[in-house]
Amino acid sequence: MDDNETGAVDFVREVIAADVASGKHGGRVVTRFPPEPNGYLHIGHARSICLNFGVAEEFGGVCTLRFDDTNPSAEEDHFVRAIEADVRWLGFDWGERRRFASDYFERLYAWAEDLITQGKAYVCDLSPEEMREYNGTLTEPGRPSPGRARSVEENLDLFRRMRAGEFPSGARVLRAKIDLASSVLPMRDPILYRIQDAEHHRTGDTWKIYPLYDFAHGLSDAIEEVTHSLCTLEFADHRPLYDWILAQLDTPSTPEQTEFARLNLSHTVLSKRFLRRLVEEGHVAGWDDPRMPTLSGLRRRGVPPEAIVAFCRGVGLTKRDNLIELSRFEYYVREHLNRVAPRVMAVLRPLRVVIENYPEDGEESFDAVNNPEDESAGTRRVPFSRVVYVERDDFLEDPPRKFFRLAPGREVRLRYACLVTCTEVVKDEAGEVVELRCRWDPESRGGNAPDGRRVRGTLHWVSAKHAVPIQARLYNPLFSEADPGARGGDFVEGLAPDSLERVDGGLAEPSLAAAAPGTTFQFERLGYFSVDPDSTPERLLVNRTVTLRDSWAKTQKRGTESQRSRARARTT
Ligand code: ATP
Ligand code: MG
Repeated sequence: MDDNETGAVDFVREVIAADVASGKHGGRVVTRFPPEPNGYLHIGHARSICLNFGVAEEFGGVCTLRFDDTNPSAEEDHFVRAIEADVRWLGFDWGERRRFASDYFERLYAWAEDLITQGKAYVCDLSPEEMREYNGTLTEPGRPSPGRARSVEENLDLFRRMRAGEFPSGARVLRAKIDLASSVLPMRDPILYRIQDAEHHRTGDTWKIYPLYDFAHGLSDAIEEVTHSLCTLEFADHRPLYDWILAQLDTPSTPEQTEFARLNLSHTVLSKRFLRRLVEEGHVAGWDDPRMPTLSGLRRRGVPPEAIVAFCRGVGLTKRDNLIELSRFEYYVREHLNRVAPRVMAVLRPLRVVIENYPEDGEESFDAVNNPEDESAGTRRVPFSRVVYVERDDFLEDPPRKFFRLAPGREVRLRYACLVTCTEVVKDEAGEVVELRCRWDPESRGGNAPDGRRVRGTLHWVSAKHAVPIQARLYNPLFSEADPGARGGDFVEGLAPDSLERVDGGLAEPSLAAAAPGTTFQFERLGYFSVDPDSTPERLLVNRTVTLRDSWAKTQKRGTESQRSRARARTT
């Protein structure tokens, strides 16, 4: 059984464990993950995937991947394949259990006729506006549509003619006859079928009518003998309808619906509708833009699937909506990458360093540890020569006392290589520092001080003649607001202006040239970076997956610290 961070078993698993113990549903556990193939999966879906596949595994049950493809206008085959790839990438396997709601269209239709025959469904001709008006409000009961009084025969005839394509799209619908005064709005004679003249990605133009989610979902669950239909809170109001439909019809099983809160993540939006707008309006480069919370975006960014699964477990399940901080997700990403990511050295903004007392044409290589967290990752040789590059930020001409990096006259360690002392600063006409002249201590090969003298700073570096050029893309949160979705359709107003920063002219150690796209590394002292699929050996493109530390929180803290010191300055 799965424990979340608090060590408590979540309430869904409690329900299931109790059902298994009491022998309900014959003690079986069957779940499903039911995506609609109208977009790409996002990290919220991962929450549902982990839950459905997770409980099936933990309770010795099975989980079906069911495409809820009942709305032909938005659904496409390539979404089906992308969803499958994403679920597999997360590490889940549906085996033979892949289904489509469209596989059940004939059975669903027969059940609809059954409801009509029982006098529990009727054809309604009201326009959507009229229907809204007839349906009343929370404080006011609905009024019956004229269609409600139709005979079984007339309803059957009209429904069959709807199927035969005799009426235009939207002209009529089939509604359940339940309770127009119900305090539960979905029970006020909900629509079961509508006429839609659209090409379906699997059934083509066979069907002129399509079932609505509420009708198709529970019955699909029943066909698949799902025991626990786990869904998000917005369906809680639909549960009476879910149960009502199953109670009227002779179905292979009687699944039960349990709701849990959606995963909401700060500084992003988790709604396919909003994500589609980001893509279509060009705010991002595509569904797999590394700033997107889609699984394809996170993959491209270098986030390992294990981190997503661990995060979903870690945040657990709640019955109430809440907003999870993005930094909490990044914590899981860092945690996993720290354990598995190979370390390499790369310099994003290079500053040339010439080691004057190193032979002109000399070169040698040093052993570097691939992953201090994993001895089995071994070591590699990193080439070194007279000219190396260090990070521009690692030099200050006039440093404060506690700056333990390069400065005139200061000695630092070039990681794994040697100790160097800065002897001269070379500037261009504009006064810009363009080169440092240094001297090395030949006795310090490997990076150790021969006499045990104290050298506090250790810098990453790359050898000029061996380096491979890189372009780095640094990502910040896509939105500057914590909850842009709260603005509704205006969510784009919350977009951050600086979510992508391209840094050209970087250099990396040569081992990176052979890296397969999708591999994530730790660039020492800089962060985790992943090789982009568009990368070529001639021009390496890397995406910053996540910074090394929670620099974002740090910046915010630094902000408040400087405010505090400003306040102090005012009072003294
Ligand atoms: P969206 O709001 O992004 O369009 P959706 O619910 O319409 O999502 P579906 O394809 O119908 O998308 O979702 C498949 C399953 O994933 C559903 O069972 C849904 O409840 C679940 N799901 C969707 N978003 C989240 C989320 N943020 N957290 C947890 N589960 C989610
Ligand atoms: Mg949905």
